[in-house]
Amino acid sequence: MQMLTTLLRQHARPRPRVWWLLPLVALLLLGSIGWGAHRIYQERELRYRHQIEGGLHAVNLLQMRGLADWRARRMAEAAALTQDGLLARAVAQWRKTAAPEREALLRERLLILVEQARYTAAYLVDVQGRLLLQPQGTAAGLLPAPEQQALQQALVQAQPVVVELRRDPAFAFEIYGLLAPLFDGDRPLGAVWLVVDARTTLYPLLQTWPSHSPSAESVLVRRQGDAAVALSPLRLRGEEPTALQLPLAQHRRDPLVQAVEGVRGAFYASDYREQEVLAVASAVPDSPWLLVSKVDVADAFSEAQRREWLGLGLLASLGLLLLGCIAMLWQWRAWQRERALKGELERNLRWLDNAQKAAAVGYFTYDTRRETFVMSRMASAIFGLPADGRMTLRQWMGLLHPDEGAQVLQIHGRAMTERTPLRTQYRIRRANDRQERWVEVWGEYSQASAAEPSRMTGTVQDITERRHTEEQLSRYRAALEAQVRLDPLTQVANRLALHEAVTHEWSRAQREGTPLAMVMMDVDHFKAYNDYYGHVAGDQCLRRVAEALSALLGRAGDLLARYGGEEFAVLLPGADVPAAMAVALRLQDQVRALALEHRGSACSGIVTLSMGVTSLHPQQHADVAGQEAAQILFQQADAALYTAKQTGRNRVVLYGADCMAALHPSGWTPLTPIEPHDL
Ligand code: GH3
Ligand code: MG
Ligand code: MG
Repeated sequence: MQMLTTLLRQHARPRPRVWWLLPLVALLLLGSIGWGAHRIYQERELRYRHQIEGGLHAVNLLQMRGLADWRARRMAEAAALTQDGLLARAVAQWRKTAAPEREALLRERLLILVEQARYTAAYLVDVQGRLLLQPQGTAAGLLPAPEQQALQQALVQAQPVVVELRRDPAFAFEIYGLLAPLFDGDRPLGAVWLVVDARTTLYPLLQTWPSHSPSAESVLVRRQGDAAVALSPLRLRGEEPTALQLPLAQHRRDPLVQAVEGVRGAFYASDYREQEVLAVASAVPDSPWLLVSKVDVADAFSEAQRREWLGLGLLASLGLLLLGCIAMLWQWRAWQRERALKGELERNLRWLDNAQKAAAVGYFTYDTRRETFVMSRMASAIFGLPADGRMTLRQWMGLLHPDEGAQVLQIHGRAMTERTPLRTQYRIRRANDRQERWVEVWGEYSQASAAEPSRMTGTVQDITERRHTEEQLSRYRAALEAQVRLDPLTQVANRLALHEAVTHEWSRAQREGTPLAMVMMDVDHFKAYNDYYGHVAGDQCLRRVAEALSALLGRAGDLLARYGGEEFAVLLPGADVPAAMAVALRLQDQVRALALEHRGSACSGIVTLSMGVTSLHPQQHADVAGQEAAQILFQQADAALYTAKQTGRNRVVLYGADCMAALHPSGWTPLTPIEPHDL
């Protein structure tokens, strides 16, 4: 069991710390990777934003310069017409003479403007704004109002004046007009009205984009009163220019409105489609035009975001892969640990099973609520039950030995109510073969909580063989005990037994007020017997004497003992002096009757005994205790025996005053009390 706990403890020892730290490290690693990725993402986004802004700026700048160039070129062309002296003279002469060849020359000049300078139309007008000539021939009608106004201004300033982009009923498209005044010296002659179709030369300047962005567009815008007006078509809405008019107060976040309000450079805004856009606004020099280039934020950053997501996805997959690997490793190690533990447990259970078998010990738990024992295989075998490990209380009671059943139940019941450990041995009749077996049960009651039923857990051991051995041993011990008090040669009691009997009988004599007598006897000249017949014959002689003596003593309590070498003593409870003397004489006759030849004897031809007799009465020795009484009895009998020897042997002497005087002239020497260890 200890081995098992040690093994279990070994397995319960915490794993090296590194394994517990591993997920933490992995988490930290993933966290820092995530944080790093986030930082990189932010930085890259910022860089990408700068890149996009820079690109948009460049496009805007390029287009703005193109527009400025375009305007400057138109203005330069118009100025060249104003400064063309030949043209002015030709106009002046044509006006004077109306000569057809002059007119043809002028028409040719106008045609050159249309065909080579790519004007949509070119007219010669007089100072009142009347249309005079066009490349195809004479023209009729008046300049539209804005051009009329511009003409007057041009004539006053003596330089070309621009009519900004506008739609005129005479043209089906947006036109840009220029009025180049003509002078003959200081005299105003009229002007050349140059009309530009914005679709063919102006708008294409706004449609050149270096990227394929589907949301990028540039819009030409100008302020008109309290509104921002788009001058170029909206690519994303396919709308005609000038159709989009955004009141400033209502569209503060619109990039066109913001541009009109003076915002320049790159900024974020929400355009006419309610889309978040990145816009760059700039003013076209020497014009009321503003150029707004914009691109949808989602579109601009979608590529960057796609790339970043791809990177993040890759990182996440790597992280997941790492975590998966760790989890798998973890699982594998747990599985290995579990397998090792299972193996260990199985081995230990086998070992426990074997140990139980070897010790014939089984274990069990008893559920007081269900009144059922749950037992190990060994415990089941001990009770002779099938190995299913269950036994009901009734079954168990049926197995108890009928002589002890009630007692065993009582012991169990007491242990349960008093919660004391149970240790008991009892007999059962084994269920399978009804064989009587002894079992020893150790158990303890426990209760996990007040709500739980109390249980007894314990062991049961078959101790039948042990009990048999013990019984044998106790018999043997009893025999030994008896032998300790038995004289091996003569098979009568020995000196120890005699001493014990004397003390015991004295107590009884005191209780009952009866006398206690002692006869001590000694074989006469036994040394000579040995010398004559040999030691073996001497032993034989002693056995015969003892046999004869014990044959005579029939009364219960009378005890014959071999007191010494060839000395015997007889204890006679209840015998007073006459009775004791009578017994002594009968004993002497008994031995004499054996007629054992004794040639070495100086007093007779056969084996004879000398005897000393005494009897004590508790009335005369009221305060004398057992030990002291024994001492007195032995001393007196011994003294009488001594007298018998001294006075010629082969006789019985009663203890009396003459014994004392004759044998102990120098005074009384008490005998040493005989202790059992002296024997
Ligand atoms: P007395 O008449 O004065 O008693 O003379 P005794 O020779 O009997 O007395 P003593 O004490 O001189 O001698 C006792 C003898 O008894 C000595 C010994 O050899 C013998 N003896 C004692 N025990 C045994 C025994 O167990 N077997 C045999 N064969 N002889 C024994
Ligand atoms: Mg003797
Ligand atoms: Mg003797």
